Amino acid sequence: MNTQRIAVLAFILALLTLPAVVPEAQSQQLLNQEPPNNCISASPPHSEQTTEQPVNAVFTRNSSNSSTFTIQYNTTKAGYGFRVEPVDGTKVISSSGFEHTPIGLRWDRETNQSHIRFQLSESIKGFQFKGGDEWIIGPIPEHSGNADISFQTQEGYLGSKLFLLGEYTEYSRHTGCQEISLIAPSETNFGANPDRILDTYTQAAEMMDTGGAYQHVRGFVTPKSTGKRSGFAPSSSNGIANEFVVSTEADLRSVKNTWLHEYIHTHQHFQPRAGLQWIYEGSATYLTARISLEQGLISPTEYDRALQRYANYEAGNTTLNEVTRENLAYRRGSVVLSRIDALHSSNRSSTVIQLIHWMNTQNGDRPARITYENFEQHYQTTTNHSGTFSPHNATFTATDIQPGYETAHTFPLWQLRRLAAASNSPTWMPALLMMIATTLAFRELYPWAVEDLYNDTESTEEPD
Ligand SMILES: [Zn+2]
Repeated sequence: MNTQRIAVLAFILALLTLPAVVPEAQSQQLLNQEPPNNCISASPPHSEQTTEQPVNAVFTRNSSNSSTFTIQYNTTKAGYGFRVEPVDGTKVISSSGFEHTPIGLRWDRETNQSHIRFQLSESIKGFQFKGGDEWIIGPIPEHSGNADISFQTQEGYLGSKLFLLGEYTEYSRHTGCQEISLIAPSETNFGANPDRILDTYTQAAEMMDTGGAYQHVRGFVTPKSTGKRSGFAPSSSNGIANEFVVSTEADLRSVKNTWLHEYIHTHQHFQPRAGLQWIYEGSATYLTARISLEQGLISPTEYDRALQRYANYEAGNTTLNEVTRENLAYRRGSVVLSRIDALHSSNRSSTVIQLIHWMNTQNGDRPARITYENFEQHYQTTTNHSGTFSPHNATFTATDIQPGYETAHTFPLWQLRRLAAASNSPTWMPALLMMIATTLAFRELYPWAVEDLYNDTESTEEPD
């Protein structure tokens, strides 16, 4: 009996040490495994700017209406002019001391105690900001003009683009030069464990040598359904901002993994132009599935099936070059990129991560404008004009394309990833049970462990 136990233990230990000896060629691994070491600085959160300015904007929650908030402006020096523009996801319901203009509300330059009351509304992309009895999360309206404005709230967190009013808890983690935080109303039930979500982020940061890691990334967590989409990442003058919002309804163990999808957006510091607008969503969708697979959050079967479903997506005569945030951008976009990675994973300069790195670094600290032509030229140069896959046909025609599948050959690797994802120090009994469970999940004999992708109808929206 004892000998048997030792044998089982030795077998499991051998399995756990296997990742070091599994040949890399078995899988298209993302290349980098280093924490980011050259981070981009972003606007600090307003909560950290405490110096009073000529105009002081105070955010308050409305305790009788969970979907409204008010900004009170206290102007200490007259003569300054400023304008407030509601952003997507909010609308103005009342104001005092402001004149309505086609480009927002202009302060009347007289009223020292003015205010604007906002209501959360559905964004153009179908994301609904929400509030509850004790909290509200929303986007910060744009402020412009001649006045310096400081932002304050009695209780809550004012980021650079998003805010949470009410009592909150912050969960943070560092990797290299990046600090990643989750900011959630106190006593939020996350669904997924916040530590596990932060593990996912730090591991993703180490896999993504995009040259586009922000020094600080903040995810605002909404403990409610957020409508058609479970996440949203606002853009900034720097590409995509360093903040995003995710609903606790988002699933960490899914090809869609909105937790990860929104984080990946924060690595996009370029401005796609003519014919390439699909790449924001296409690359976020592809890398979400890819990194979820590599972290053991989904199985190769789930990954392959999602790509197959994306490749089968019918969009009539619409072609990839014409879309930005339509379903086709997410789906066909990710299929194109999976194919590029599958074909060129052995060549360090032409992987999807490298492509993003290249786009992120074409204009110094400013976001570069990248057209489809730039992309095509880069692709042809880094692949030495070799290979049978034509990104041009995949982008400008509606012809069928074959995804870059992971295939079921990677079973032992997948099982190790799943074990690593489940626990840092497994003891033999749970590890053995996990191995049995992962085997069943992989062979799809364990349906409740596998997301049923076939039930995921075509009308389902992708994460924003
Ligand atoms: Zn997105």
